[in-house]
Amino acid sequence: MSLEKVDMDRGARIRDFGQRVMSGDVLSREEALWLFELEERADIMDLLSVANRVREHFKGNKIHLCSIVNAKAGGCSENCKFCAQSAAYQGDSPRYGFIDREPVEEAADEAERNGVTAVGLVAAWRGLKEGPILDEVCDRIREMAAEGKTRPDASLGLIESQAVADRLKEAGLECYGHNLESSRRFFPEHCTTHAFEDRLQTIQYLKNAGIKICSGGIIGMGETRADRCDLAMSLREIGANVVPINILNPIEGTPYENNEPLAPFEILKTIACFRLILPQKEIMIAGGRTVNLRDLQSMVFMAGASALMVGNYLTTLNQPVEKDLQMLKDLGLDSDWDKAGFSDQDEGCGATSAGPSCQPETAEVA
Ligand code: SF4
Repeated sequence: MSLEKVDMDRGARIRDFGQRVMSGDVLSREEALWLFELEERADIMDLLSVANRVREHFKGNKIHLCSIVNAKAGGCSENCKFCAQSAAYQGDSPRYGFIDREPVEEAADEAERNGVTAVGLVAAWRGLKEGPILDEVCDRIREMAAEGKTRPDASLGLIESQAVADRLKEAGLECYGHNLESSRRFFPEHCTTHAFEDRLQTIQYLKNAGIKICSGGIIGMGETRADRCDLAMSLREIGANVVPINILNPIEGTPYENNEPLAPFEILKTIACFRLILPQKEIMIAGGRTVNLRDLQSMVFMAGASALMVGNYLTTLNQPVEKDLQMLKDLGLDSDWDKAGFSDQDEGCGATSAGPSCQPETAEVA
């Protein structure tokens, strides 16, 4: 068999996957892993093209923009190896307690000016339980919801009980960010102070409360392609609505400070695989895009991304929002995402009846 014939076969298989996904079928783990393992540049370009078509099929030219405000910085009790906010390795990144109303209002004003759909309150701590901090968190969410400038989101770590999730919902929270970070297998490699199952439990509480789920992960930590594939499969199982893909930005002082960066095409291929596994979800490119993709940043949309984290990240800088907005305009993409929500997603799951259950593997924990 000639090399040309082999390439044509692979191209045809990739296109067939795209057709199947657009008609509502779901890829098996074996099929998805085959995509993650593609090596040839021509095959990856075919995959990007198919992922772009799948994005357009389900999302048109709409792009969902989010931003975050660091609501409590540094000194975190957890030991996530990629994070400069862990007390275990904190260098010179800032430390402060839970912020009051003004900085949140400023973030919401800026988001509104730039047409950004949501502002997420993000806190560096283990999680939320009943008590005065939860009261303050609920106050901030209530204020944001009452102002109505952006969708109030939050990413505040592990949630201790169903009652905490219910209180967040009551305060007006619509979407909560809680990444699975990596595969179940790889998780203990980067964090030992809590477990993958703890994260699933939190997501279950949130879903029970009727809060949308923003959950993705971080690539470039030393995980395998199979780990990335399994992360995407887990996100399909839990029914994540928004799926942030972070790309490791090795921070000095953290255990991953000397990690080899992923090649840009490996990153783009990963995004495309996520689009085919999670065809109707918001695949969001978050931290690490500027430093890892450089001039190839605009290709994330061709790879199937439909959402972008804009503005600065928690401990690192992003390119200016104006530059991102210009990039979207140049690509003919529209950031006026439907503020009403996630109406283009099947409730709770992008899978068809032939696909996996919308319940996480640990549904019994709820
Ligand atoms: S990622 Fe979150 S939980 Fe982990 S150390 Fe950083 S702030 Fe803490």
